Amino acid sequence: ASIFETVSKAPADIIFALTADYKADPHPDKVNLGVGAYRTEEGKPWVLPVVHKADKILVEDEHLDHEYLPILGLESFRKASAKLILGADSKAIAEGRVGAAQCISGTGAVYAGASFLAKHYPFKQAACYISKPTWANHRAIFEGVGISVLEYPYWDPETRGLDLKGMLATMEGAPSGSIFLLHPCAHNPTGVDPTPDQWKQIADVMEAKGHFTFFDTAYQGFASGSLDKDAYSIRYFVERGFEMFIAQSFSKNFGLYSERAGNLTIVTKTPEIKDRIESQIAKAQRAVISNPPAYGARVVSQVLNDEKLYSEWEENLSTMANRIISMRQALFDELKALGTPGTWNHIVDQIGMFSFTGLTTPQVKVLKEKYHVYLTDNGRISMAGLNTKNVKYFAQAVDDVVR
Ligand code: PMP
Repeated sequence: ASIFETVSKAPADIIFALTADYKADPHPDKVNLGVGAYRTEEGKPWVLPVVHKADKILVEDEHLDHEYLPILGLESFRKASAKLILGADSKAIAEGRVGAAQCISGTGAVYAGASFLAKHYPFKQAACYISKPTWANHRAIFEGVGISVLEYPYWDPETRGLDLKGMLATMEGAPSGSIFLLHPCAHNPTGVDPTPDQWKQIADVMEAKGHFTFFDTAYQGFASGSLDKDAYSIRYFVERGFEMFIAQSFSKNFGLYSERAGNLTIVTKTPEIKDRIESQIAKAQRAVISNPPAYGARVVSQVLNDEKLYSEWEENLSTMANRIISMRQALFDELKALGTPGTWNHIVDQIGMFSFTGLTTPQVKVLKEKYHVYLTDNGRISMAGLNTKNVKYFAQAVDDVVR
């Protein structure tokens, strides 16, 4: 008998299983609205033109080698990542109290921050509060490092918008020094973000209660098309003097999904504390990945540190953001033209990669079985999966299932 007889089978990851089902479906009109990956008007993955250029530069660079990076990663990448999210004129950076660690994309950055907190956060019993709903990996990562996870209300099914009251009440009621995981923009899965005034109210309670802020940003530049606008909430919190962790992903905004380019930016009170935290993260990272992979970080660094490439990147970002925004409008228009029952304003009001449609699990099932349209059971659709050729088909399918 095997020594592993007692091992049970784990359930497959929902998103990746959905993609596999989609791929196996031979139907010519099938639509994949599951995975959060950008697609062109032709429904194809997009290598950003600026990434192509960076690729070429790297291939032709005779001085590049394949030596190990430092444990905390490529310095030019870490610095540029922190600057990108906090702003070129960041006072916190100028004061030397911002640290950075290159991680295995956004997932790895959330993990590195969470595992640091599990070991070094002074309130040992503190829970991490995540939004209800959120990206499924948030719970998995925090529970995985031994931090208990609780939820704060976020989505209000009535208004199909933000449940600010519920969110603030939970923040008020949580024990002082709790950890709050916040999405700074393009909330996954709802596409609903707080307004600047609502961020102020959130910051007021976070400050009064002494909660710790953990931002997870996977969509900077992708939500509005503006890198600065999408960093608003984070810069506002920094300006108000919060210490925080910021997990950054370059999967979506660079289209570097498989290269695993990410960064954990750390904002503290003093350069000394920043140094100590970085040293602990380095120590922990050594035992998990030893040192991060170079390629994706080199691409990002090449673009972020070159004025001309940087502005080309901004154009590429606008292309992606605008196509998604136009698909929101197209879907809304189609549903309106069909007279589909219900209100659909949320489709155009929501922001970023996803729309939380309000479709129910049984409706999602019909969409899949009858129409070969693939989306997660919670009714979330990846807007990037829509294009001018399939948006009408999708709208007609939605119209049918809600009637
Ligand atoms: N956080 C959120 C909220 C996300 O949606 C994602 C991507 N789905 C990530 C983090 C990180 O993804 P990756 O590890 O590919 O950078």
